[in-house]
Amino acid sequence: MSKAYGRRIVSVLAAVSMMAAAASGCGQGKYERMEIVSGETAGEALEAGEDNPEEEPAAEMREKAGEEAQPETSLSERERAMAPAPSFTDVSDTIYIKGSQVRLRTAPDTGNDQNIAAVVNSGTALTRTGDSDDWCRISYEGQTLYVSKSLVSSEKPQAIPATADANQAAASTSGGSQISLDNGWKYADYSAIKSGTATLYRSESDSRKGITVCVNAGHGTKGGGNVKTQCHPDGTPKVTGGTTGAGATKAAAVSSGMTFLDGTPESKVTLALAKAFKEKLLAAGYDVLMIREGDDVQLDNIARTVLANNMADCHIALHWDSTENNKGAFFMSVPNVASYRAMEPVASNWQKHQSLGENLVAGLKGAGVKIFSSGSMEMDLTQTSYSTVPSIDIELGDKASDHSAGTLDVLASGLLAGVNSYFGKE
Ligand SMILES: [Zn+2]
Repeated sequence: MSKAYGRRIVSVLAAVSMMAAAASGCGQGKYERMEIVSGETAGEALEAGEDNPEEEPAAEMREKAGEEAQPETSLSERERAMAPAPSFTDVSDTIYIKGSQVRLRTAPDTGNDQNIAAVVNSGTALTRTGDSDDWCRISYEGQTLYVSKSLVSSEKPQAIPATADANQAAASTSGGSQISLDNGWKYADYSAIKSGTATLYRSESDSRKGITVCVNAGHGTKGGGNVKTQCHPDGTPKVTGGTTGAGATKAAAVSSGMTFLDGTPESKVTLALAKAFKEKLLAAGYDVLMIREGDDVQLDNIARTVLANNMADCHIALHWDSTENNKGAFFMSVPNVASYRAMEPVASNWQKHQSLGENLVAGLKGAGVKIFSSGSMEMDLTQTSYSTVPSIDIELGDKASDHSAGTLDVLASGLLAGVNSYFGKE
C-alpha cells in the first residue's frame, strides 16, 4: 500500500476531463482554441531579462502549445479579424472550471495573450453573466472576463478522493490526475515557482505494487534560472560546489541545463527518458508521478521535491552532466560533511538516498550502461536538502553521450531494475 494514497490530494482532476475539453473544442467556433497550457503564465511573468539561449522565444512556445493542442482551430490574424464577435445571452448561474491552469480573459479571443487576466484551476466556481456558442462571460473578483466554454461545466468536477476505489476512476496509463502543490505541505513555502502541476498515473498492470515512483525530468522550467530559492531549509550555505558554488545560501530555482555536443538541450533528453521510464514503471506495476511531460512545467526544484515527498515513495531526477568525455552514469551522493548530514530532513533520510542511488547505478550497470568511477559523486543539491522520501539525482552520462531512443530504452530498463532491487521486488 502506497502511503501516497492516504495523503491529501488537492486540485485534482482526471485528465479525462482535459481530454474531453479538447475533444469538445473541435469543430466549434473560430474563437476556440485549447486553453490548457500548464504554468505558462508564471513563465511569461518571469521572461523579462531572460538570458537563456536554450529556451525558445515566448511567442514560439505559445504557438507550439496551441498547435499541439488543437492545430485545426488556429487562426491567421486575418481570419481572426474577420470572425464575428460572439453575441452573449444574459444568464445568471454558477459554472465550474474543469481544466488545469485555465485562462480568464478580458475579451473572448485566444489570439491575443495580452488579454489574460487570471489563471484558475479545476473546480473554481464562477458566476456566469453571459452565454454564447463558444464563450462564457463571467464575473471574477469584480471584473467582467471571458472563459472558453469547453473548459467549464455546470457541475462541480469531482475531486478524486484518496481511496482505493477512486483509484480505479483515475486508473489509466493514457490519462492521469493533475496534482498541484499544496501550500500546506512542509517546505512548500520555500518554493518560488509552483503554479504548474505534476501528473499521477496509476498502473493498470495485474501486479500493481502499490508504490509510487516520482520521475523528475531535470530542468524545463521557463524563467527558472532567474529566480533564486534557498539551498537549505535552515538557511545554511552549500557545503559543496556545483552549478552553484559552495558557500552560497541561494541557488537558481531551476537551472536551464546543459546542451549536448550535438546541440540537443539536456531538458529534451531528460524528458524523453522520463517518458520511456514511465512506461516501463507502469507496465511493471508501479504508479508514476510525472513532474514534467512537456517542454515547460512551472515547478522549481523545491516544488518538485515537495510533490515527491507527499505523493510518491521515491524521487528520481534525471540529468546528464556538463562534462564532454562520455564519462558514464553516476548518482549525486549526499556529501560526507557532518553538518550537512546532521541537518533535517537530510539527517533522517540520507541513508535512504544513498541506497536508492546505489541500487539505480547497479541496475544501470547490469543493463550494460557505462558507469563513471565508483558510480557516485558528492553533491549538495537543493533536491536532497528538502527530500523526505528516498531521493536521487542521477546523471545518465554527459554532453558527449549518445541519447538515441535505443540508448534511452536501455537506460530506462536499467533504472527499472534499480527501482525493483531498491524496493525488494523481482
Ligand atoms: Zn541537469
